[in-house]
Amino acid sequence: MIDRYSRQTLFSGIGEEGQKRLGNSCVVIIGCGALGTIIATSLVRAGVGKVRIIDRDFIEYHNLQRQVLFDEDDVRDGLPKAIAAERHLKRVNSLVQVEGIVADVNYINIEGFIGDADLVLDGLDNLETRFLINDACLKHKIPWVYGGAISSSGMTMSIIPGQTPCLRCFSASPPSGILLTCDTAGVIGPAPFIIGSLESVEAMKILVGAEAEVNRDLISIDVWKGTFIHFKISHHPDCPACHGKYEFLEGRYGMKTTSLCGQNAVQILNPEANQLSLQELAARLQPVGQVTYNEFMLRFTVDNHEMVVFPDGRAILRNTTDESLARGLYAKYIGA
Ligand SMILES: [Zn+2]
Repeated sequence: MIDRYSRQTLFSGIGEEGQKRLGNSCVVIIGCGALGTIIATSLVRAGVGKVRIIDRDFIEYHNLQRQVLFDEDDVRDGLPKAIAAERHLKRVNSLVQVEGIVADVNYINIEGFIGDADLVLDGLDNLETRFLINDACLKHKIPWVYGGAISSSGMTMSIIPGQTPCLRCFSASPPSGILLTCDTAGVIGPAPFIIGSLESVEAMKILVGAEAEVNRDLISIDVWKGTFIHFKISHHPDCPACHGKYEFLEGRYGMKTTSLCGQNAVQILNPEANQLSLQELAARLQPVGQVTYNEFMLRFTVDNHEMVVFPDGRAILRNTTDESLARGLYAKYIGA
């Protein structure tokens, strides 16, 4: 057991004591795309005791360019990212309790996912859920590491409740209007690789108790330009989250449909439709369109629209960003 981590315990920042602390820790990684796969592989290999990976999506060929845990078999098998990540990582390090959960993290379920965590890591592609993580982590006094990447650039910051400024201290809410997404700007692998690596090293420092070494700046990089900039962030005197007002966690900003970054797709959430039987749904949809399914998801094609449905009632409508069309088709074929 010690041998496996010998090169890591030789490093004075970790040592034998740090290794034990890593082994007794529980981390939650929310989002398992390019960032999440880098973070998950780093922390499972490093011997963090319990790693929970939550992702709402399934794997497609265009993910393989940068999502290092997945392969072509995963795409052919129609696996959700959280399940494929769990399977691959259990083969990497059987000493770690790896738990893959297929779910959309929202204001209703987030506290249940992170309650036992020592640390939460951001592997997301959307800002709204990051503000939700910020609220939930501040409320439960759990450190979290923010990270995001797009195009050739990325940002990261460590947030320790009660000590450092939080995400809302420097951005009051997700910006409105047109945002850059992986759809419009694209992304090259090295940008999320670097940000995911920085998030992983922050995780190690926080988990081994090297508080003084934790990065307290907002770090901004551009891998194409080769730039690496630290920004000092201050507590905002009116930050709602730092004053115990958790507006995202209260669901004030929750939405039922979301456009998915990098995918030209819309996700529909239906909290009423939990525990869908995909077998029953397949039988219902077979007469009206083309249906394939496994225990994790059902794929349904009708009138040039492709919809993927998950057992928790969630659906993803492909090849559109039209949220009202998505709601309409969901109501028509799944029922709302
Ligand atoms: Zn704040």
